[in-house]
Amino acid sequence: MYFDTAEGPVFRPPSEADSFILRVTIGCSHNRCTYCNMYRTVDFRTRSMEEIMAQIEQAKAYKDMIRRIFLADGNALVLSTPRLLEILKVLHENFPKLRRVSCYAGPNDILRKTTEELQRLSEAGLKLVYYGMESGDDEVLLHVNKGVTKQQSIEAGQKIVAAGIKLSLMVIIGLAGKAGSKEHAYHTAQAVNAIRPNMLSALTLMMYRGSELRAEYERGEFTLLSPAEIMGELSRLISGIDLHSEAHCLFRSNHISNYVALAGTLPQDKEKLLVDCKKAMEHLSTMTEWDPYNNVEQ
Ligand code: SF4
Repeated sequence: MYFDTAEGPVFRPPSEADSFILRVTIGCSHNRCTYCNMYRTVDFRTRSMEEIMAQIEQAKAYKDMIRRIFLADGNALVLSTPRLLEILKVLHENFPKLRRVSCYAGPNDILRKTTEELQRLSEAGLKLVYYGMESGDDEVLLHVNKGVTKQQSIEAGQKIVAAGIKLSLMVIIGLAGKAGSKEHAYHTAQAVNAIRPNMLSALTLMMYRGSELRAEYERGEFTLLSPAEIMGELSRLISGIDLHSEAHCLFRSNHISNYVALAGTLPQDKEKLLVDCKKAMEHLSTMTEWDPYNNVEQ
């Protein structure tokens, strides 16, 4: 979900539709993932406290309605812990009904913070972090330039959970192409098992304009999965997820990128989700044509 502004597009997760979107940075400081074009037109910068306060001043007119705030843009945790604590303090002082502050986070930003820093952020009101791990496979992570290994991805996720911050983990089905599909599903499931996120979203690869991965595909160097193969990979991922029986991980595969909307709780709904995948696979295997770019808007 995104909208354009004078200083580039603003993205937010679908679940932040009713949130006050407060831009504490502009763009993404990493900005090198080969499947992503979100902030390619924007030079990364942190916003000054004056700019942030000006946006807060405007939002104060709605202070009795604001219960959730999303800190944009792409990786708000890149800010220093003192700066984030200062922002969280100001937010709680100005929005009396505030219940949740959330943000996107990149793995290296999480890893740079100590567990104690993350705990302080949790206590100060940072309740939810959206982390696009995308894959647990070292080869895929290297290929898409995520900037971390499988082990580092796992450590980043575990640090958020250990700090008491809710973790919404995102993975991308199809990111390894045909050649690496099985390994991608296997290693991603292993990483999910090690992290134990509160929420898991399985998106389907979209070939965004201007992304390096799209260029690879157009040069014939990356082979996309068919819709039925996407469901097969998703099924393998779900099969490999083995969470403790008392875990309660909200699983969603209902993003605009997904061919079939699936939802459930893991591990409780695992068998039902696998049946849903099988049915979808059978249905989609009759498709002879599909949009290889997967409905790209941007
Ligand atoms: S996927 Fe996330 S971390 Fe990677 S370039 Fe895009 S916004 Fe930045």
